[in-house]
Amino acid sequence: MIIYKTAEEIEIMREAAQIVSRTLGKIAEMIEPGVTPLELDKVAESYIRSENAIPGFLGLYDFPNTLCISINDAVVHGIPTETPLKDGDIVSVDCGAIFEGYYGDHAYTFEVGNVKEEVKQLLKVTKECLYLGIEQCRAGNRIGDIGFAIQQHAEKHGYGVVRDLVGHGIGKTMHEEPQVPNYGRRGKGKKIQNGLTIAIEPMINMGTEKVVQLEDGWTIVTQDRLPSAHFEHDVAVIEGKPEILSTFDYIEKALEKKK
Ligand code: MG
Ligand code: MG
Repeated sequence: MIIYKTAEEIEIMREAAQIVSRTLGKIAEMIEPGVTPLELDKVAESYIRSENAIPGFLGLYDFPNTLCISINDAVVHGIPTETPLKDGDIVSVDCGAIFEGYYGDHAYTFEVGNVKEEVKQLLKVTKECLYLGIEQCRAGNRIGDIGFAIQQHAEKHGYGVVRDLVGHGIGKTMHEEPQVPNYGRRGKGKKIQNGLTIAIEPMINMGTEKVVQLEDGWTIVTQDRLPSAHFEHDVAVIEGKPEILSTFDYIEKALEKKK
């Protein structure tokens, strides 16, 4: 069952999403060769708590940390380690927070130092996929329209669209109905209506769409071990139109400052 949200609930969810947005802004300031994923995780946890929120991933399905940090061929659900980031890595940082009982959940893939041109292109196209998907999230459209837009754009560039993991409804629980695949057919799936709140999160691979899980029971990697990118926003449908509750502004300002 899809749980549609009232305007008041959406405002609380916007707060939760903004806390995650600011957290990822702090992470953006720290991303450089030598920093460890566990250091990033600690900063994220204390920042979220300083905002009177609760880390959304910590303990969820027994996940051990605040951030999912997925490097290079890791798609999602990477566990933060003490292995420093290296020049040329790409790193997806996915973060969740609970504020007044509602979840925010979004992600950004960062470049560490100097990244190969072809990998930069993968990041650029994946981010474009996210916004093309969001554009379809309007009343009268169907969930399949979102996936269709994402899939078309990714495949046009020869990339693989992950099938095994999908976006999702979000609210008082992290994962609600509906599932929001990054592939699909135009005009198929559940109808989109006001009050829908979903996390749209394209996971796009340089090579094959196929993924496998590592023995840690969490990390999802590409089967061919080529790089993968992941961007995510929380979106609400208000007055028929998509409204992005999260923002990459804090990240982009921090990255701009480092140039
Ligand atoms: Mg996420
Ligand atoms: Mg999500």
